Amino acid sequence: MPRRLLPIVVLPLLLAGCAAAEPVAASSPSASPSPTATEATVPPTPTPTPTFDRNARSIDDPASVWVVVNRSRPLNPQDWVPGDLVGVPVAHTWDPLLRQEGADAIVALFAAARAEAGLALASNSAYRSYTSQVGLYHPSNPLIAPPGTSEHQTGLAMDIGAESGECSLSACFANTAEGQWLAGNAWRFGFVLRFPDGLEGITGYPFEPWHYRYVGTELAAEMHATGTRTLEEFFGLPPAPAP
Ligand SMILES: [Zn+2]
Repeated sequence: MPRRLLPIVVLPLLLAGCAAAEPVAASSPSASPSPTATEATVPPTPTPTPTFDRNARSIDDPASVWVVVNRSRPLNPQDWVPGDLVGVPVAHTWDPLLRQEGADAIVALFAAARAEAGLALASNSAYRSYTSQVGLYHPSNPLIAPPGTSEHQTGLAMDIGAESGECSLSACFANTAEGQWLAGNAWRFGFVLRFPDGLEGITGYPFEPWHYRYVGTELAAEMHATGTRTLEEFFGLPPAPAP
């Protein structure tokens, strides 16, 4: 029995486990690929909505998916705890919790990354409590939000990486296939890249290509369509630079 044949047997079993969750499009003739087959995976570009109501949801209420949290806008109350945290059934390094709506959106996003681009994502961090942020915080580290001002405390933010761990929580994640797919597609699932490159003077944080914040599909699509990169700019709020 030639040992070299083993991978040929094992690989389909592994792939079958991965692909089991993906719907099979019975109507697509996979045996005869056509040049137009990729069109379905190109996300539509939304057009700005002239009537978009920027006051439709609160940006102050910690329970609102539009809540804007930064160094100048702590959660109120500062030790707020979301009422609908659930475990997120995705690959992870630390057990992830998110609010139900964000968790559902992340599951859909991870599934799309796999189905559309063959990419395996993982969560590196999701909900963090006020108390855990107290333990993390140190004034000398500009990446750590002061307690009560972390988006992770909203239950709507996740630090996303490649399941391989390549460039996890590092600037080079932006150059990975996973980082680039997220940057181009997360808005479709209601997420925004919260700390874009070069906007530290507005957000208060250096580029974090891994940190995504759920704001719902309507707002994420509108920000994408208008080319608005920060929540502060979209809602006309003052910059919140690091001290
Ligand atoms: Zn983060």
